[in-house]
Amino acid sequence: MANDTIVAAATPPGNGGLSVIRVSGPHSIRSTSFISKRHVSFFKERMATLCSVFNNDGVFVDKCVITYFKSPSSYTGEDVVEVSCHGNPFIVDSIITSFLTNGVRLAQPGEFTKRAFLNGKIDLVQAESVASLISSRSLKSVEFSNSAISGNVSTRLRALRDDVVSVLATCEYELDISEEETSKDLNSKCILSITNIAHHFKSLYSTFNKNRFYFSGASVVIAGKPNVGKSTLFNALVGLDRSIVNEAPGTTRDYIDSNIIIDGIPIRLIDTAGTRESLDDVEMAGVRRSQDVVRDSDLKVYVYDVVDNIIPKDHNIYVLNKIDLVDHQQISGTESRYIPISAKTGAGIPSLKSAISSSLSGNNPQQPDTVLTTKRQADSMLLCYNHLLAACDILNEKTPGYDLVAFEIRESISHLDKVLGKTHPDNILNKVFNNFCVGK
Ligand code: GDP
Repeated sequence: MANDTIVAAATPPGNGGLSVIRVSGPHSIRSTSFISKRHVSFFKERMATLCSVFNNDGVFVDKCVITYFKSPSSYTGEDVVEVSCHGNPFIVDSIITSFLTNGVRLAQPGEFTKRAFLNGKIDLVQAESVASLISSRSLKSVEFSNSAISGNVSTRLRALRDDVVSVLATCEYELDISEEETSKDLNSKCILSITNIAHHFKSLYSTFNKNRFYFSGASVVIAGKPNVGKSTLFNALVGLDRSIVNEAPGTTRDYIDSNIIIDGIPIRLIDTAGTRESLDDVEMAGVRRSQDVVRDSDLKVYVYDVVDNIIPKDHNIYVLNKIDLVDHQQISGTESRYIPISAKTGAGIPSLKSAISSSLSGNNPQQPDTVLTTKRQADSMLLCYNHLLAACDILNEKTPGYDLVAFEIRESISHLDKVLGKTHPDNILNKVFNNFCVGK
C-alpha cells in the first residue's frame, strides 16, 4: 500500500448542485479531522456525516457531507474520505488546498483506480473497463464496461490461463522424459487442447473488433452525386433540419456532421458535398475535404436518385432515394442491391438504420459478458493466439522440440498475464492509467 495520501475532485469542474472531493491513503481521516476541526472519532465508517469545513486560516468554507470508507473496504483498498460540497469551483479548490497543506498531495490521473489495482481490489481488465465506462458514449458500451468491471471478462481469461498452464505442464513433463518415449497420442491430445484454447483467444479478439464501434463510435458518410437527396437524408436521420436542402446541385460545399445514436452505436453522421468537378478553387477545396472524409469513414452510405441506374459493387450501403416519385412496381426487385427510401417522407428510414447498425456491429451482436473493452486487451488476445498456433506448428513436426513448444506456450501466458495485470511493466501501467481523468 502507498504511504502517501492523495486528493482530487471526483466530479467535473463547474457549477452544480454538488461536487465531490476524494481523498485516499493513510492520512485521509487525520487530514479530514484537521480541515473540519473535528476529532477523528467523529467520523464513523460508512456514515454520511454533516460538518463544516475550514480553510487554512480557519475561515469557514462550506457545510459538507463527509463519508469515511475504512481500509480495506473502499474503492482503493486504503482509507478513503469523500467530501460532498456545494458545486462551485472556488469551494472545491479551497477544500483541496486545505487538504494539500495538511500532508496530502494532488492525485495523478487515474491514481485512485491505479491504487485499487495495486492493492488487489481489481485486476487490470477491470481497471481499464472503469475508464471505458466513464468515457462510454452509449448505453451499450456502459453495459459492456459494467460487465467487464463485475469480473466476467477476467473470469473467462483466468479460466483460459488455467487451461494454458495445464497444457504447459504436460509439455514440460514431456521435456523430462526421453523423446523416444513420448507417445504420439499425447502429442495429438496436446495439439487438440492448444487449438481449442487458441480458438477461444481468437473469438475473444473478435468480440472487441465486432463491438469496437459501441466504444469508439463510428463515422458514417452519406455520399453521392449532387441533388440525389443526401442532405434530406441527413436531416431525416438526424431528425433536425441541420443540413441546407436546395434544388440547385452542389448546395453543400464542404461537409457537415452531427452525432446520433443508432441501435446503441454512437455515430458521427457526415453529409458531404457532391463529388462533381468544379473550376471554382474554394468549391474544389471543399470537395477535396469531403473526399478525404469519405475515404477515412467507417461506413459509406451511397445515395442514388430513383432515376439513376447504377449497379452497386462493394460492401457499402446503397440507398435508392425518392421512391415516393415512382410506382412501387418500378423499384420492385432492387431491394437486394439497394435500400429503397424516401428521405422526404421517411419511408425506408428504419430499414436503413438497421442496415447501418448491423453493418457496423458485424451482423452479430455479442453477449455482454464476453466483450473486451480495449484494443490493448484485443491485441494481446491475438498474440496469445499466435503463440499457441506456433506451439501447434512445432508439435506437428516429426520430432517436436518440446522446449520450443513450452517457450511459445509461456509467451502466450505472459501476454495473458499482462492483460490481467499479474505482471505489469511500468510502460503498460502508464499507458492504461494515463487515459483516466484526475479523481478516478
Ligand atoms: P443533395 O444535393 O444530394 O444533398 O440533395 P438535397 O437533399 O439538397 O435534395 C435535392 C432535392 O431533392 C431537393 O429538392 C429535395 O427536396 C429533393 N428530395 C430529396 N429527397 C427526396 C425524396 O425522397 N423524394 C422527393 N420527392 N424529393 C426529394
